[in-house]
Amino acid sequence: MSGSSKCHHPEIDFNLEHAIFKDTNIRYLEIIGKCKICETPIQFQGNFPVGVTPDFPTQVELGNRNIVLPFLVEGEIYDGNSPSFYVKDPEIEN
Ligand SMILES: [Zn+2]
Repeated sequence: MSGSSKCHHPEIDFNLEHAIFKDTNIRYLEIIGKCKICETPIQFQGNFPVGVTPDFPTQVELGNRNIVLPFLVEGEIYDGNSPSFYVKDPEIEN
């Protein structure tokens, strides 16, 4: 089943990817989810910039389906110079 309008999406299957940005101690958690029954992807709510930056959450591509959350372990201080690239208002840019 895919994208069924009859499904009430009772269970969401989340995929969490954890990565660390090279030459920094900034880590990222990428979150993706879809309905376990009909496989319809979840869509996060909000106006996320597209790209990656250590400064705030972003979406990987338009559609709010892949959210990237930068984080440090409590007590750590940001160390390094992470590459940062994002489009602040992707809807306007396109
Ligand atoms: Zn569903």
